[in-house]
Amino acid sequence: MRHTLEAYGYGEIRTPVFEETQLFVRSVGSETDIVQKEMYTFNDRRGRSLTLRPEGTASVVRAYLENHLGREAGVRRFYYLGPMFRYDRPQAGRFREFFQVGAEAIGSGDPEQDIEIIDLLSMLLHDLGLKDLEVEVNSVGHPGCRQAYESELRAALERERGKLCATCGTRIEGNPLRVFDCKNEACRGVMSRLPLLRNHLCDACETHHATVLAGLARLGIPHKENPMIVRGLDYYTRTAFEVHYPPLGAQSALGGGGRYDGLVEACGGPPTPAVGFSAGIERVLFALEQTSAEAPVEPPIVVLPLGDAARVPALELARELRAVAPTAVDLSGRSLKALLRSAGRGGAHVAVILGDKEMTRAEVTVRDLLAGEQETSPRTGVTAAVQALLQRHGGEA
Ligand SMILES: [Zn+2]
Ligand SMILES: [Zn+2]
Repeated sequence: MRHTLEAYGYGEIRTPVFEETQLFVRSVGSETDIVQKEMYTFNDRRGRSLTLRPEGTASVVRAYLENHLGREAGVRRFYYLGPMFRYDRPQAGRFREFFQVGAEAIGSGDPEQDIEIIDLLSMLLHDLGLKDLEVEVNSVGHPGCRQAYESELRAALERERGKLCATCGTRIEGNPLRVFDCKNEACRGVMSRLPLLRNHLCDACETHHATVLAGLARLGIPHKENPMIVRGLDYYTRTAFEVHYPPLGAQSALGGGGRYDGLVEACGGPPTPAVGFSAGIERVLFALEQTSAEAPVEPPIVVLPLGDAARVPALELARELRAVAPTAVDLSGRSLKALLRSAGRGGAHVAVILGDKEMTRAEVTVRDLLAGEQETSPRTGVTAAVQALLQRHGGEA
């Protein structure tokens, strides 16, 4: 994941695992389930209220402002990877401490930035071996286009009040859009009859949305519109999306995100447009386990020493090969057959075999794990031989 994120020019940001509670109340929203019932909140020794981070964006925005990272004009690109905490009901694939990967592009309000963020999340999952992903995308407009819509939505909800759950009943006056987040069976039935925000966009939001859709098509990213993806807070604007892995069935979302043009300002900064995503690492691992796809555990090159005398020379050889590409040495001491099998399964492309015979002749065997072919190379020429082989596989790497 780091490899893909950095290949797109995103740099890692590491924030503390806890922040002042108010940051999450302000940024995630006081009306959300996260803030109302899922946060681990405690007082420190001076009585200040702190909270274990339930998500990553708030901390990135806080760090961005506190450290004046927006001082230079242009777009700042960040990614994070780490533990988050929510007091949720533990169930299959869901933990109270869980890991997320996320990226934020702060400083651009343009639709092309949304396209890049969606492309980045799809490529991140694609590079792990998850093919056939599907992006669901929607626009939640800007606060202006939501205002007119909300009164119409309130009227429609008022007519259905008797069928809604108690929580949604209170949402009619407060934040009616939040009804779309309800998991209640009866509320979900009502949803299909409600007016859609998607059909109430102003011209500027409509154009932005059309540009995002056209860009996804141009990049060949499979996608469809889903008007039910709603983020009912004022900070969220325009693009909202989820990336699904359909083989997982009902719970197929691996990640999602969207544009949050109002968040930096809500956290005390100047008006600054931004867009980002997050994905659950446990969900991704679960998806990989459900398919034949396995997360690559080996780098492109693996050196396989056979016999005791070859072990230290293998470490020396690997040092040279690292100039070409990341290289691991398998020191498990198993048979050649077992070594080759795990190198291939682990996702390595080239195995460099160093045994007694090769040692005495100052040679190595270079095996193409994708094609299943091998050749002998003089020890001195091994770097060039491996490089040529990897270049031939360049298109597949
Ligand atoms: Zn609008
Ligand atoms: Zn409900």
